[in-house]
Amino acid sequence: MPLDSLTDKVALVTGAGSGIGRAVAVALAREGCRVVLAGRREEPLARVAEEVRGCGRQAFPVVCDVGSREAVDALRESAGRVGVVQILVNSAGIAPAASILEMEDALLEEVLRVNFLGTYYCCKRFLEPMIEMRWGRIINIASTTARTAYPNTAAYTASKHAVLGLTKVMALETARNGITVNAICPGYVDTELTRENARRMAARVGGATPEVLERFARTSPQRRLMAADEVAAAAVLLAGPAGDAVTGQGINVDGGAVMS
Ligand code: NAD
Repeated sequence: MPLDSLTDKVALVTGAGSGIGRAVAVALAREGCRVVLAGRREEPLARVAEEVRGCGRQAFPVVCDVGSREAVDALRESAGRVGVVQILVNSAGIAPAASILEMEDALLEEVLRVNFLGTYYCCKRFLEPMIEMRWGRIINIASTTARTAYPNTAAYTASKHAVLGLTKVMALETARNGITVNAICPGYVDTELTRENARRMAARVGGATPEVLERFARTSPQRRLMAADEVAAAAVLLAGPAGDAVTGQGINVDGGAVMS
């Protein structure tokens, strides 16, 4: 049964063309949302739009680089023609790895631009109409790296710590406006981003990609990669009535890998 309160609400999902963003977009459509799908590439967005329409819901794909202020302004214009965005899920992200000694400044700047500034630009530009409606849900896809650290992830870890910090402050500032702001902190999820990381690590340290993926899986007490659908289920919970009292939190979806 779709949750009544989500029926016909407009949801905007960034990074919607693949992985977690795709799973969230489809899950919200199943709950009755109309979905604006934002991402860099037209083709994957068009495919996900078809999936959303297959759930009987409207889909509006918009090509947008979330790390560009101007592009997010244009996204606000396009999404505004659909209706007031009351559910925002920031899933767009990149995760290149490098040790601090090897890392070029440009890599850190690009990761912060997409992962942190992209999240910030969307939060900032879609918040005011939510306040006017006195109902809104912002869900930022952070990472367990928002809570802990792993080697060779300085840029990514810094960006996700920043996302969690922004989430908490926004939750405080909107708590009396009918808005909740939360982060989901996944462990290793079985998506292209993880497979690409495994390929790069295998090339770097030697060994085969499946072995690296197996090593990723073993970091979780459940000894497995998470599924994008499991992250999407947490997003649906936060967006729906069950999430009304939950704000300013980072919800780990990681099979118990990080317990803080
Ligand atoms: P993914 O690569 O499948 O999805 C990321 C999406 O973001 C892609 O569709 C990509 O095109 C899009 N994107 C990248 N840069 C963009 C930009 N500048 N503007 C708009 N869209 C852009 O990977 P995923 O695993 O689904 O990752 C989604 C989010 O989840 C990311 O923020 C990632 O950091 C986070 N995360 C992933 C994992 C994991 O193990 N896969 C773990 C923790 C957190």
